[in-house]
Amino acid sequence: MTTSLVGPLSPVREAELLDSVPKGLLIGGQWREASDGGTFDVHDPSTGAVLATLASATSADALAALDAADAVQASWARTAPRERAEILRRAFDLVTARAEDFALLMTLEMGKPLAEARGEVTYGAEFLRWFSEEAVRNYGRYLPTPEGNNRILVQKKPVGPCLLITPWNFPLAMATRKVAPAVAAGCTMVLKPARLTPLTAQLFAQTMLEAGLPAGVLNVVASSSAAGISGPLLADARLRKVSFTGSTPVGKRLMADAATNVLRTSMELGGNAPFIVFEDADLDKAVVGAMAAKMRNMGEACTAANRFLVQESVAAEFTQKFAAAMGALTVGRGTDPGTQVGPLIDAGARDDVHALVSAAVDAGATAVTGGAPAGGAGYFYPPTVLANVPNDADILRQEIFGPVAPVTTFATEQDAIALANATEYGLASYLYSRDFNRLLRVAEQIEFGMVGFNSGVISNAAAPFGGVKHSGLGREGGAEGIAEYTTTQYIGIADPYAG
Ligand code: NAD
Repeated sequence: MTTSLVGPLSPVREAELLDSVPKGLLIGGQWREASDGGTFDVHDPSTGAVLATLASATSADALAALDAADAVQASWARTAPRERAEILRRAFDLVTARAEDFALLMTLEMGKPLAEARGEVTYGAEFLRWFSEEAVRNYGRYLPTPEGNNRILVQKKPVGPCLLITPWNFPLAMATRKVAPAVAAGCTMVLKPARLTPLTAQLFAQTMLEAGLPAGVLNVVASSSAAGISGPLLADARLRKVSFTGSTPVGKRLMADAATNVLRTSMELGGNAPFIVFEDADLDKAVVGAMAAKMRNMGEACTAANRFLVQESVAAEFTQKFAAAMGALTVGRGTDPGTQVGPLIDAGARDDVHALVSAAVDAGATAVTGGAPAGGAGYFYPPTVLANVPNDADILRQEIFGPVAPVTTFATEQDAIALANATEYGLASYLYSRDFNRLLRVAEQIEFGMVGFNSGVISNAAAPFGGVKHSGLGREGGAEGIAEYTTTQYIGIADPYAG
């Protein structure tokens, strides 16, 4: 069993941890090289340095991974739910025991401050524990027909081999949020982690093997060619489901490809979260919530508050307090003590964020704090608050994916609702008010899959996470999470009294 490498932070410890990560493809329980010997590099976004070189799966490797998943699907589906539950529970214990290693690895490959990476280990591990508890509660039902003669039996079965595709921003939690319910439901799978941050998924997959997951149930094919993996798998009739977390344009393309084999799809796509502050809100609490909703992961989160809609009478006070808190944050390498804001994932991400800020300023917005990228190595961008942002600015329509908070104002509750809904996205939203009836009224009228009441953090393994409109289909976590991996079979039973 792999032991934790916990020790003081140092270049030696980083090197030992990186050495301990498997670099191959996981197919049928074996780590192996790519069929063409191809590799790709993983970089540290705070320095640009190469951290590790991994095997880059080809289309043939992807199909070999599906062969492995398909070969064990029937036996895995018959495994006792308690056995699947206990594998997940052991995985929870192992990830928790190695929390410091997982956290450091995420900080190295993704850039988030170590304290946030630790938070993601807790959140990500929780999906393993939650679905270990759900695995044994996969209820069906039995009832008489309304006519009272025949009987209806409904059972839940695993949907079959799944393709799981994850993004770079939450390297552990996005993997556990898919793998854990698939394991609980009795599905086998091929996981393709993001090219930019695959190391955490590699270590997690090894941990699942250590927890007793049978060979072939989880196969991992990191690759520099995402479409080269998804294309042949979606075209193969043995695959029965695709679960994707990532950008809306890629999700739409995958949905179109998934139509060929009429696959079950779960799509966790982009967001454009409104953060609405009413004049009766506790403004100090709203600022604390705004910092959490904006700055988690440097703003690189689908749930990140993207638009601050503040009622006119409190806009100046809120903006001033919020900008003071944002301006006081310490930017630096995620491993440095005291760092609160790490780098963005790459140069393109930093340049895109700055282009949105520049266009907003050109359109009349004011940078109350921040507004210009730092020079030097790494892809750092300062926490930025923009005031007086025109309602038609691009920055209010697009996912910013950076530490930038555009503030705009509204007059009435109905105006706030209209502004919030003026987007094709519908993932997270945040409401601040002391009036509970108002919170409920607004929640009923806004088109978002998730709403926070006086809270800037809403993700929880026990809650159904997901969006409406172009933010996606399906839910992850909660009781809904396992249902995404099951299919319903109805058995009609003849009247047991009819002889
Ligand atoms: P992305 O769409 O570029 O990539 C996501 C994954 O898809 C990666 O593994 C990538 O390699 C793969 N991919 C890219 N092109 C592909 C193709 N043509 N075929 C198959 N796979 C392909 O997204 P990203 O930049 O990694 O992540 C950021 C996006 O993810 C943001 O839009 C964010 O809002 C979204 N996101 C959503 C959620 C959610 O739960 N709704 C959570 C996290 C991130």
